[in-house]
Amino acid sequence: MISHKIPVGILGATGMVGQRYVQLLANHPWFTLTHLAASANSAGKPYREAIAGRSHLADNIPTAILELPVHAVEDITNAAKNCRLVFSAIELPNKTALQETENTYAVAGLAVVSNASAHRWTEDIPMLIPEINASHLNLITAQQKQRGWSGCIIVKPNCSLQSYLTPLYALEQAGYTLSDVVVTTLQAISGAGYPGVASLDILDNVVPYIGGEEEKTEQEPLKILGTMAENKILPRTGLTISAHCNRVPVIDGHLACVSIRFKDKKPTPDEIKNSWQLFRSLPQQLNLPSAPVQPIIYRTEDNRPQPRKDRDADKGMAVTVGRLRPCPVFDYKFVGLSHNTIRGAAGGGILNGELLVAQGFVK
Ligand code: NAP
Repeated sequence: MISHKIPVGILGATGMVGQRYVQLLANHPWFTLTHLAASANSAGKPYREAIAGRSHLADNIPTAILELPVHAVEDITNAAKNCRLVFSAIELPNKTALQETENTYAVAGLAVVSNASAHRWTEDIPMLIPEINASHLNLITAQQKQRGWSGCIIVKPNCSLQSYLTPLYALEQAGYTLSDVVVTTLQAISGAGYPGVASLDILDNVVPYIGGEEEKTEQEPLKILGTMAENKILPRTGLTISAHCNRVPVIDGHLACVSIRFKDKKPTPDEIKNSWQLFRSLPQQLNLPSAPVQPIIYRTEDNRPQPRKDRDADKGMAVTVGRLRPCPVFDYKFVGLSHNTIRGAAGGGILNGELLVAQGFVK
């Protein structure tokens, strides 16, 4: 389908998510990694040197990538020369500065797929999980028209909600409308970036607070499940989500314990399991390179999913669910798991990029 590889870049290439992007893009069939950018501390160094002492990469990254120079994120001129799409994994304390940085790339004609939270609630910017709301990409036309951009921006949601939202969506697709969800997340340390949470705070411990995470876990699904209006998304109504978010001493893999109540028609346990196992969506139909073959995997064992055993399912891109059982308060409860730096961050971002290409937004 792709006759030539598309040159791409990574903003924040030296961080936890940026390094995962490097690993996943090193041998990508559609993309070739040509541009790396990070803060002024890293700019001017070869990538190998910029990540020295904080490398999370496997040993098989091609030398050509390790020798690429790291540019400053502000260096848009070189980025525009080097690539057509950038994956943004920058961490800035200031939301407006982050928005402006990403905007300058779209002004320069680049497509931006962002992992950062800055633009998640910007009206004309879609927040995508390709299996759920690929149709929201149609916002790009309005975005480019009203802003005069030749590039575009799309964003990924927070990693916390990706362990449970696709399973919930699959149930709604099968005709069962949800009204209430209570979710308790057990989130891996890598979700805090590097160096993240101090070892003395997290070893032998659970931290029952992650700043801003409960709000994101409760609200972002409503935009993703929302409907397209002319130039914005109208958030889903009639669904209430309550979240408890905890940091646990696991390196990768966010677990979610979820209780759900249906509005009226209530499925049987077998109908729920079938809806999950049979669920397929646009990324599978389009055969996107990073799409999991089976987006939701149901494990029948009493003690699964587990982060160490299930986070890498289908290249780390599948959501694994299990422990479906009746809930004495709501209707059912289950456990979901996804890999936070792959499905929840870099892998999910690359899947978004592949969708942009397959839908003709990046050529
Ligand atoms: P991280 O490990 O702290 O990395 C931050 C990156 O941002 C580094 O490349 C850093 O470059 C760069 N940066 C910092 N200050 C900068 C500045 N002033 N100008 C330009 N670049 C700057 O963080 P992370 O965990 O990879 O997260 C990156 C983004 O992804 C964040 O927005 C985060 O919310 C989001 N996210 C993370 C996860 C996850 O599981 N970790 C999941 C979903 C979304 P230097 O190395 O040069 O300082």
